[in-house]
Amino acid sequence: MEKRELVIIGAGPAGMSAAIYGRRSGLDVLVLEKTKTGGQINITDEIENYPGVAHATGPELGEMLHKHAMKFETEIRMVDDSKVELRGDKKIVVTHKGDETNEIEAEAIIVATGAHFRRLGCAGEAEHIGRGVSFCAVCDAAFCEDLEVAVVGGGNTAVEEGNYLTKFASKVYLIHRRDEFRADRAAIEQVLANPKMEPVYNTVVDEIQDREPEDDDDMRMLNLVLKNVKTGETSNLPVAMVFMFVGQTPDDGCVNGLVEAKKGGWIVTNDHMETSVEGIFAAGDVRDKYLRQVITAASDGAIAAMAASSYINEQVHLRSTLLEPEKVTAFFYSSIDPEQVKLSNAAEVKSKEKGIKTPIIDGYRNARMTEKLGLKDKLPALVELSKGEVKSVKSVSSEADINF
Ligand SMILES: Cc1cc2nc3c(=O)[nH]c(=O)nc-3n(C[C@H](O)[C@H](O)[C@H](O)COP(=O)(O)OP(=O)(O)OC[C@H]3O[C@@H](n4cnc5c(N)ncnc54)[C@H](O)[C@@H]3O)c2cc1C
Repeated sequence: MEKRELVIIGAGPAGMSAAIYGRRSGLDVLVLEKTKTGGQINITDEIENYPGVAHATGPELGEMLHKHAMKFETEIRMVDDSKVELRGDKKIVVTHKGDETNEIEAEAIIVATGAHFRRLGCAGEAEHIGRGVSFCAVCDAAFCEDLEVAVVGGGNTAVEEGNYLTKFASKVYLIHRRDEFRADRAAIEQVLANPKMEPVYNTVVDEIQDREPEDDDDMRMLNLVLKNVKTGETSNLPVAMVFMFVGQTPDDGCVNGLVEAKKGGWIVTNDHMETSVEGIFAAGDVRDKYLRQVITAASDGAIAAMAASSYINEQVHLRSTLLEPEKVTAFFYSSIDPEQVKLSNAAEVKSKEKGIKTPIIDGYRNARMTEKLGLKDKLPALVELSKGEVKSVKSVSSEADINF
């Protein structure tokens, strides 16, 4: 089976940032991607809030990320899909490409699979996806030349993508269920100043219907049945296309059910991007987090890679010193207890004096390993192990107890 140190699933800003940090810290990194390097940003026309890049199109920034990762000789492998499996202590990534299935054993995995825009869920939406209903302004804006279109949503993406569509469309109705937008003030001001943009407040789309054009020039093939949420009144809005920007869903399929997640599938991590499963990290939009943007995805990726690097180093070290030897006695302590730190120093000195190699293990930093060995509430202790199995535990309360 193929063996890799770090497997990163997803080559969006989080995955590419993790790859850059991972490669720079000397790890053997494999990135798996099922569509295109850059991830979601490929479908946006304007990025102007990533520090140092005053303006770039999404695909341009995607290309920059790709080139940057290539500078550090990152291996990016295109797959149709990938899924993580746990087999005992081993983490296996199963990938599919055409008829081929491949299995990769990874020391650590970073899940950077991102998110996608949610469907509105109204009647007629599913039937019209790709036939007037779109989730990507950049992909479909060219079809809106001089036409009237609608955007549904009230956050930054709805407002920004709506603005972008005014470069093509003759009019953009911005339909929002509340009486004010949730977007940044700057974005809202831009919208309100744009004569092609018409906000429609307190309104939801109840149904999307086919529409008979009034004449040959009428390209408004859809009828949106709108409902005012305050008055309950309904009305019809004929448009050529409708773009949905009403929230996101995580692409957590590769670890679904394996790691702890919040309602909807958003993966829970700590500050080190560690998930509930040892050695599996998550970064970027797929995480449960406050702000889903390129900059936060890149930051998550960097943290995840550094945490994964230290995890891998620790694992390799622990394996060779603690789990593989036929017979070893280790000193386990907690680095957050000053008394235990003193005892660990004494243990180190005594083992050197006797010329014995004693692994001194910080049970606080290696909490999962300590728990797995059943030592969680037994520190400080001298622990005898054989091939990773605990043979004896001797509690230590003073230097006098440290005898090898
Ligand atoms: C229309 C639009 C406009 C936006 N505008 C801005 C903006 O102006 N500024 C800004 O900062 N942010 C913007 N964003 C948000 C930004 O794009 C995201 O926050 C960012 O891309 C998240 O990065 P990520 O790496 O976490 O995930 P993604 O970018 O979603 O990348 C995840 C990658 O993982 C791949 N993947 C998923 N599952 C698998 C699997 N099982 N196996 C292999 N690969 C897999 C996907 O194909 C994808 O390439 C915008 C997003 C959209 C959609």
